[in-house]
Amino acid sequence: MTRLACDLTTLRRGACPSIAAPMQTGDGLLVRLRPVAAALAAKDLLALADLARENGNGLVEITARGNIQLRGLTATSVPHLAEGLAAAGIVPQTGVAIETPPLSGIDPSEIVDATPVAAALRQAIAGAALILAPKLAIVVDGGGVLSLADMIADVRLDAVATNDGVFWRLSLGGDRRTARAIALLCPQTVVAGAMTIMAALATAGPAARGRDLDAAALAAGFDTKPGMPVFLVPSHPVGVHRIGDHLLLGVAPAYGQVHADRLAALVRGLSACGVAEFRLAPHRTLLVRGLSENTLAAAQDIAEREGFWCTDNAPGRSISICAGAAGCASAGFDTHAAADAMVAHAAELLDGSVDVHISGCPKGCAHPARAAVTLCGTAAGIGLVLDGRAGDAPLATIPATELAPAIQRLGTLLRTRRAGDEKAKNLIDRTAPATFISAYQGQQ
Ligand code: SF4
Repeated sequence: MTRLACDLTTLRRGACPSIAAPMQTGDGLLVRLRPVAAALAAKDLLALADLARENGNGLVEITARGNIQLRGLTATSVPHLAEGLAAAGIVPQTGVAIETPPLSGIDPSEIVDATPVAAALRQAIAGAALILAPKLAIVVDGGGVLSLADMIADVRLDAVATNDGVFWRLSLGGDRRTARAIALLCPQTVVAGAMTIMAALATAGPAARGRDLDAAALAAGFDTKPGMPVFLVPSHPVGVHRIGDHLLLGVAPAYGQVHADRLAALVRGLSACGVAEFRLAPHRTLLVRGLSENTLAAAQDIAEREGFWCTDNAPGRSISICAGAAGCASAGFDTHAAADAMVAHAAELLDGSVDVHISGCPKGCAHPARAAVTLCGTAAGIGLVLDGRAGDAPLATIPATELAPAIQRLGTLLRTRRAGDEKAKNLIDRTAPATFISAYQGQQ
């Protein structure tokens, strides 16, 4: 079998960490992949779990865009991972990321199956050999219950049903509501129209994104003008869905991470309940198909037992955590335990209106962007950062042994100050940092 060349000189933050170019993180190399097949069998997920254990630190993540991430790999183990994927018949997508709704082709409520358009566009881009930004994201959305209307993309194609048939609304830089309209394309011209944008991006430079293009100038080149889009908020994929004849259950690993052993236990348990198909979906979700009304409750019990959330309002959904002490030598504390303490004692922070980040060290692997509240392991203890990144100077630092009571005090502070059903964002905005610091350090 051909051994994959892993050019570690290409590793950098900001690029997409594929198998050919994994990304260096504090817990080793990270590989992100999306299988070409929309529907995975139990054996595929079991193979992925084995490969995560054998070649990495065993942690498997599902990202917000529905990709798989394996962590803790090494320059030596990445080629073994590639070989293992090939042996298991799992083919990762390559090239530009083109997203379609997770139930494309099987959702009777969709306007049209987006898969053929996405495949044709992928082929056209590959054939044109354009150099495009590594993080470029394209959405081809045929609608349906789990549409991608709320997913941000550089370039969007949204299906539109008209009296004259299905058309595609081409737009730039945003979700379905905010992206700037370019054209309304018929099925015969949709790929050629989208390729006009790809050519403009390539001309603008190897890092150009949708937001960098002049939408008005591009729209002037098309005859057909799109109207305002219909924006229906899609269902959250986590939870139970009854779509046509299909009963689906969306499960999400707690905090987006699960150990391979528990993933394998989930897959075996759900298979025994009749699940024959697993689909990766946005919001860190695994959609499973094949349950009956008789086996649904047992499947939910198994998912919860193995550390998966089954409802879209799980309070921990707005917490990002890294591997922590369980999987990374750089970590200063147990991030999972801290997240559980946050859920148990400071739920006021977790209504989804703000991001909370719990990072084992200042590297901040799990959430490189700013978060409203960050707890970060440092040499001096656990730092508290407000509206910043894990690497920012903490406002206050406490010993790791004091963290649980500190989280309880933060929860008490927020509960005491909260007015009615006030959102966490507003509550944080109107609370002075000094008040947070006092509570965190136990000086109230
Ligand atoms: S402790 Fe967390 S943030 Fe630090 S290097 Fe490890 S995984 Fe990354």
